[in-house]
Amino acid sequence: CAKSLGRGRYILFDSEMYEQNLKLMQLDSDLRYAIERQEFELHYQPFVALATNKLVGFEALIRWRHPERGLVSPTEFIPVAEDSGLIVAIGDWVMHEACQQLRKWQTLFPETTALKMSINLASHQVRESNLIEKLDRVLAATGIVGSSICLEITESTLMDRSELTIDKLRQLRARNIQLSIDDFGQGYSSLGYLRRFPINTLKIDRAFIDRMAADAENLEIVRTIVVLAKTLSMNVVAEGVENQQQVTMLKQLDCKFAQGYFFSRPLPVLALEQAIATKILEI
Ligand code: C2E
Ligand code: MG
Ligand code: MG
Ligand code: MG
Repeated sequence: CAKSLGRGRYILFDSEMYEQNLKLMQLDSDLRYAIERQEFELHYQPFVALATNKLVGFEALIRWRHPERGLVSPTEFIPVAEDSGLIVAIGDWVMHEACQQLRKWQTLFPETTALKMSINLASHQVRESNLIEKLDRVLAATGIVGSSICLEITESTLMDRSELTIDKLRQLRARNIQLSIDDFGQGYSSLGYLRRFPINTLKIDRAFIDRMAADAENLEIVRTIVVLAKTLSMNVVAEGVENQQQVTMLKQLDCKFAQGYFFSRPLPVLALEQAIATKILEI
């Protein structure tokens, strides 16, 4: 390995880059088989209404159970899948799996029929010409109505070929599918561009929530996003809420919804069902 060569920094750096590239190539080739080998699973993180602490819905978050490397984080493999285009096939699997799971929960816990399933959508998926047909098929096959699902997209997805995107988002809204902007505040946002898109919810990036208590400027950013959402008649969800102090501050700002470790980590299916059955999570 590089370090045992004991050479200069340049070589060390170079061979670290080489190893990093090799690792990425290996990841990319392993990813190609992961769907058929059924190595993916979804964990579900609740989001709640701050006024009652009750469940409003879940966000589906993908996990990869790699045969040698164990559980691989989506922050590691989603960017690789986006580069190769494999994200479309993975995204199709996520969409179907999350809707099927929601249907099961609606049967198992009838109180859950009002809950939403939130699904992350990559730019590639939004750009696909048959996204709408695919969603229609998934909804029909799983018996889920459009209003039960919410698609999370990022600001950069919105900026990308925006006329086409607006048209597609309108078609989704025509099916009552909800739309959220994920990690809001990280990209370019202006009132002007936001108004053009049929968005229902802003999810405040967790970096702002994280620094809100220690840093007045961050607190002002969070306040501004909450007001902005209200002005545009959108909902607002605070992401990454980890403690009571943040909950108190968010309530003072009149932020209605939150998601984060304080309420629950993302959970595998059985753990989530147990939390609902034992009323650790209230509906
Ligand atoms: P995201 O959509 O913004 O999801 C929220 C991330 O924040 C999740 O990370 C979640 O576990 C983490 N999180 C939630 N609450 C807290 C908290 O209180 N503190 C901290 N420190 N973190 C918290 P995760 O599951 O690792 O996912 C990372 C990202 O990967 C997601 O960010 C999303 O961009 C992407 N991703 C995950 N699943 C999918 C998927 O099915 N499709 C696509 N396209 N992207 C996905
Ligand atoms: Mg998300
Ligand atoms: Mg997010
Ligand atoms: Mg994120």
